Amino acid sequence: MSAVTATLRTTEDYIERLRGMRKNVHYQGELVERTHPDIMPGIRVIGLTFDVDNPEYKGLLTASSHLTGRQINRFCHVHRTTDDLLAKQRVTRILCRKCGGCVQRCMGVDAINALSVVTKMAEDATGIEYHQRFNHFLEYFQDNDLVGNAAQTDVKGDRSKRPHEQVDPDLYLRVVEKRKDGIVVRGAKAHNTIGPYCDEIIVLPTRLMTPNDADWSVAFAVPADTQGVHLFIRATHPRPRDELKAPGAEFGACDSLTVFDDVFVPWERVFLCGETMFAGQLAALFATYHRHSYTGCKAAVCDLVLGAAALVAEYNGVAKAPHVRDKLAELIAVGELVFAAGIAASVTAQAASSGTMVPDIVYTNVGRYHAGVNVMHEFDTLIDLAGGLPATLPPEQEWNNPESAKFLEKYIMRNPAVSAENQHRLFRTLSDMLCSSSAGVMQVAGVHGGGSPIMERIAITGLYDIEERKAMIRRLAGIKD
Ligand SMILES: Cc1cc2nc3c(=O)[nH]c(=O)nc-3n(C[C@H](O)[C@H](O)[C@H](O)COP(=O)(O)OP(=O)(O)OC[C@H]3O[C@@H](n4cnc5c(N)ncnc54)[C@H](O)[C@@H]3O)c2cc1C
Repeated sequence: MSAVTATLRTTEDYIERLRGMRKNVHYQGELVERTHPDIMPGIRVIGLTFDVDNPEYKGLLTASSHLTGRQINRFCHVHRTTDDLLAKQRVTRILCRKCGGCVQRCMGVDAINALSVVTKMAEDATGIEYHQRFNHFLEYFQDNDLVGNAAQTDVKGDRSKRPHEQVDPDLYLRVVEKRKDGIVVRGAKAHNTIGPYCDEIIVLPTRLMTPNDADWSVAFAVPADTQGVHLFIRATHPRPRDELKAPGAEFGACDSLTVFDDVFVPWERVFLCGETMFAGQLAALFATYHRHSYTGCKAAVCDLVLGAAALVAEYNGVAKAPHVRDKLAELIAVGELVFAAGIAASVTAQAASSGTMVPDIVYTNVGRYHAGVNVMHEFDTLIDLAGGLPATLPPEQEWNNPESAKFLEKYIMRNPAVSAENQHRLFRTLSDMLCSSSAGVMQVAGVHGGGSPIMERIAITGLYDIEERKAMIRRLAGIKD
């Protein structure tokens, strides 16, 4: 593993490295550069995370490495204190507000935290040097300020079947060969956010495994341009603007179906290989860290929806209507409860045997669940208050033509205190938030990202002490047995 740059990179360093990577990104039927114009909106989001001296989040975006003591990016850090968890949650909310959506780099930090815990447990139980290998990789990851993608979700085939029961065993990523110097893996991981603009792909198991699923119980990291890795990507962003430029329209996201076509992984990058019991723990722990990140980013989604709802009500002249105030109160209640659950999970976190802080699992899942079941209601509220114009706003070209613009500017007017240009700006942004390709992805991500709501329900009921609550009622009812 050769060093790339100094401990903290700039956005330019990051883009430069992407330019030098092997071409394995497939987009719209072609092999493209990682800096393709449709990928740049996502790269600009990651760029925000390198802006460590920005006064809006100075101090939050850096941390001291527990391995080297060097100053590193927060998104490469393994949480050692409750303050670390709180800082990650806070900076996630700030950055998501800033890019108007998903900061995306949480994938990597959540993956390394889960690995830091489970590799220690696996090494202690088996004597295989999983934790040592992981720490070696982590030092490289931190020193080079790398961007990690978490490739957890397998394509999964028939959902009712376990990996070893699938008709095609490759429908969950698996080890097909063990060699003296490493392993060969085959399979595909789905929905991988930042696939085309990450440095490293960090592969984790997706579910609990049975003893028959040993070949599928594997975790490792590979550079994203490794031989045999193919990234089939999709890009989403607000509709491009000709003249009505706006900061929010510059950001976007990509994800990939990441295919591993017999990829060789050297042993020093293999962090789990065959230990089925730890595969399930790793899957669950990544989900916990990722859902904790959601308590920051989904609070930001509430902030954005609330801001848009309040502004459109003001521009429409109905800001003081009682039903508008009620709706704003509901949005605030969701966003702040989700964030509060993340705070609670942070301050009640426990240290694992590796020294990594693990957020409280029940608070984390309750927060993510609350966000997931409310996300459509939030968009519903915004649609309600915005009216139909986000869906039918005439294209920008008409507004750039003075002959058409004179009509469009006259007939967009509502609250006379707000200019036609600002009305137009708001409704174009609302159109991006509600009717663009980004809008659709944000809504689906709000439900399924980090695990579908059923997964949080399973985590909550699995861990919650329901027996204790039943005992309370038995006591109150005078039931003796
Ligand atoms: C925008 C976006 C970004 C994402 N980014 C990433 C990423 O970077 N990395 C990553 O690894 N993943 C990522 N994900 C994946 C996300 O975690 C999954 O979408 C989620 O876990 C659901 O998996 P699935 O999409 O395969 O849906 P499915 O598993 O098909 O789930 C659909 C529904 O089927 C039901 N179901 C599924 N299995 C069973 C079963 N065995 N028994 C009963 N019912 C079942 C559930 O009700 C579930 O709600 C992302 C997802 C989205 C939408």
